[in-house]
Amino acid sequence: MSKLNLTGLSKSELETRLQKMGEKRFHGRQLFKWLYSVRQYDFELMTDLSKELRDKLAENFEINGLNPEDHRISVDGTEKFLFRLDDNKPIETVVIPSEEEDRSPSTSSGRNTACISSQAGCAVGCFFCATGTMGLLRDLTAGEIVGQLMFLRDKYGPSAFSNVVMMGMGEPLLNFKNVIDAIRIMTDETGLNISPKKIVLSTSGITPKIIKLAEEKVGVRLALSLHAATQQKRQVIMPIAKTFKLDKLMKAVRLYADSSNLPVTFEYILFAGFNDTKQDVEDLSRLVRGLRCKINVIAYNPVPGLDFKRPSDDKINWFGKELNQKVKAVTVRKSRGMDIDAACGQLAARKFEKDRVSAQI
Ligand code: SF4
Repeated sequence: MSKLNLTGLSKSELETRLQKMGEKRFHGRQLFKWLYSVRQYDFELMTDLSKELRDKLAENFEINGLNPEDHRISVDGTEKFLFRLDDNKPIETVVIPSEEEDRSPSTSSGRNTACISSQAGCAVGCFFCATGTMGLLRDLTAGEIVGQLMFLRDKYGPSAFSNVVMMGMGEPLLNFKNVIDAIRIMTDETGLNISPKKIVLSTSGITPKIIKLAEEKVGVRLALSLHAATQQKRQVIMPIAKTFKLDKLMKAVRLYADSSNLPVTFEYILFAGFNDTKQDVEDLSRLVRGLRCKINVIAYNPVPGLDFKRPSDDKINWFGKELNQKVKAVTVRKSRGMDIDAACGQLAARKFEKDRVSAQI
């Protein structure tokens, strides 16, 4: 009989499991701490549990994490890991050092950002995104979501990352329950103990789920992948924009900002000749007027085979300066890890395509 993998189970699920075995519920809380805070995966070494209980746990459960199939390090210190899930689906996790440091997690002071995936592939199909070309393979479990962070801490220790962005493969709000469960494990003081303010959930704009996220009161920061400031333009590059119109989406974003009392981040990828004009600056500044927010202007990281281009450095700088005259908090980001396929889903999409072709031969 196969054993149940405990990774990703919530505190209350562990309490219930233990209770069903005829044990006290508080042993579930002890197990939660061993699993996520101490990251001790050998039941035998969980020393505050009785020998009898440790044996019982080992008979019924296992604790399995993620193992990377591929690991690449960029000249700028960005690191990308490719994991194969139990069913062989590929997902990616990226660690991005702060721009001041440009050092890998093994040598940095810990100001790294872990960019994690919430789905294998993605159904949203933004036209500029490598992950979008794969379609949705499946949702990640809560264990597979937090497993990416546990792997990084096991490998690099407590300074592996200081911030988490759910901006890797997938649309987190289309895997709502597992993402919320994972956030609760991340933010629990006896879990991964990450401040909710250090976690950014990035969405392509699933309006009803943004409202639901506000109701969950998990306290994480919200980022909207905006990329174009008018309905007409946005739906050219993001098919989801036809379903969730920009006016209602912005109302939901404002509601989230009010209820969380946190500024919202707008991600604005700059594509040459598409969204980089003076008119775009006007539209963008009008759209966010009166909202506590920051805008990240990001130069497009080109994906081979996709029909989008990165603007020149001069154009990127000009856009950032123009926008900054109208909106206070604007950050212009250079592309990171360009030498290691670090654009969202690029490496996994490549592996997925290779698997598909091999299966056909
Ligand atoms: S940008 Fe995000 S939402 Fe859009 S296809 Fe890629 S992973 Fe999905």
